[in-house]
Amino acid sequence: MIFLKTNEEIELIRESSLLVGKTLAEVAKHIKPGVTTLELDKVAEDFIRDHQAEPGFLGYGGFPNSLCTSVNEAVVHGIPNAKPLENGDIVSIDCGVLKNDFYGDSAYTFEIGEVSEEIKKLLEVTKECLNRSVAAAISGNRLGDIGFACQSFAESNGYGVVRELVGHGLGRNLHEEPQVPNYGKRGRGVKLKEGWVLAIEPMINLGTKNVKQLKDGWTIVTSDGKPSAHFEHDIAVAKGEPMVLSTFDFIEEVLKNKN
Ligand code: MG
Ligand code: MG
Repeated sequence: MIFLKTNEEIELIRESSLLVGKTLAEVAKHIKPGVTTLELDKVAEDFIRDHQAEPGFLGYGGFPNSLCTSVNEAVVHGIPNAKPLENGDIVSIDCGVLKNDFYGDSAYTFEIGEVSEEIKKLLEVTKECLNRSVAAAISGNRLGDIGFACQSFAESNGYGVVRELVGHGLGRNLHEEPQVPNYGKRGRGVKLKEGWVLAIEPMINLGTKNVKQLKDGWTIVTSDGKPSAHFEHDIAVAKGEPMVLSTFDFIEEVLKNKN
C-alpha cells in the first residue's frame, strides 16, 4: 500500500532530507584526490550523529556503512573502502538519515579533480534527467510520466537507463511503495496522488544500460565497465508543482567555493 503523508509528516521528511543535503555538503568539503571513501563515510556518520539523527543505511539489510560510495563504473550500493580516489574519477555518494522517525535519502555524483568532458556531460545530463523527472511528478500524472521524462532525455543523449534499480516511496521506512522506475511510457502506471512522498533517483550509464552485481553482494557496476552517474531527490506530490524536500544547494555552495 502507498501511504499518504500529512503536512506534518512531510515537514519531518523535509527536515531529514535537508540533513542529508548538509551531510553531503560536509562530505564535499573533504572530497579531493587521495581521500578514501572510508574517510568520507566517517565524516558523514559523525555529522549525522552530531545532528541528533541516525545513519539511515548503516545496518540496513546488513549494509556495513553510512554512505554508499560508487566510483566510476559502480552505479550504486558501493561499500566505502581504503582505496584513495584519483584525479579524473567520479564518485556517486548516496546518503540516508533517520530523524524523528522519518527518513531522508539523497544522492549526488562528485568529480574528483579534473574529469573528462565526456564525464562532465554525463553528470549534467543525469542531473537534468532528475529535474525532468521531478517536474513530471504532478498529482494526476502517472508513474510512467516520471520514467518517460528521464528515459527519453537520457536516451536522446545516447546513454543507458538502468532498469534493475528504481526510485521509491519514502517515510517511516527507507523504501516504501510505489517503485519509481527511471524508464516508462507516458500516461501509463498508477496515478500520482497528493501526499505521496517519493525518492526519485535516475541512474544513468555512459554506455550500456546493463548492470551486474559484484561478489561483495552489494556493489552494482555497469556490464561494460563505463562510468555511471546517480542523483536523487526526495519530493512530495502536491496539487501543482511538486515540493522538493531535499536540496543540492549546500553541496553546490561548497563546490563553488572550492573552485
Ligand atoms: Mg539514496
Ligand atoms: Mg533512494
